[in-house]
Amino acid sequence: MTDGFSPGNRIRIEVEYDTCIGSGDCVDTADKVFALDENDKAIVLDPDAESVDLIVEAASNCPIAAIFVIGEDGDLYP
Ligand code: SF4
Repeated sequence: MTDGFSPGNRIRIEVEYDTCIGSGDCVDTADKVFALDENDKAIVLDPDAESVDLIVEAASNCPIAAIFVIGEDGDLYP
C-alpha cells in the first residue's frame, strides 16, 4: 500500500480521531471496516472488508461527518 490507497477497493479512509464522539454508527453499518478503540474512538480495521458503497454509507451515517473516503479519482465522501 505504498500509494496510500487500499489494495482492493483502492480507497483511503480518514477518520478525524479527535473529533469522533464514539457514537458507533460507522461500526453499526460496517463492522468489518470500523471499530471503536479503547478510548471509544473510531479506527479503521480494513478498508477492503466491505464494498465502497457500504463504506460510503457508513461515512454518511456519521453524525458529525468525521469520516472521509477518498478514491483514486477524488473524494467519494463527502
Ligand atoms: S460514526 Fe462518526 S462519531 Fe460515530 S464512532 Fe464513527 S467516526 Fe465516530
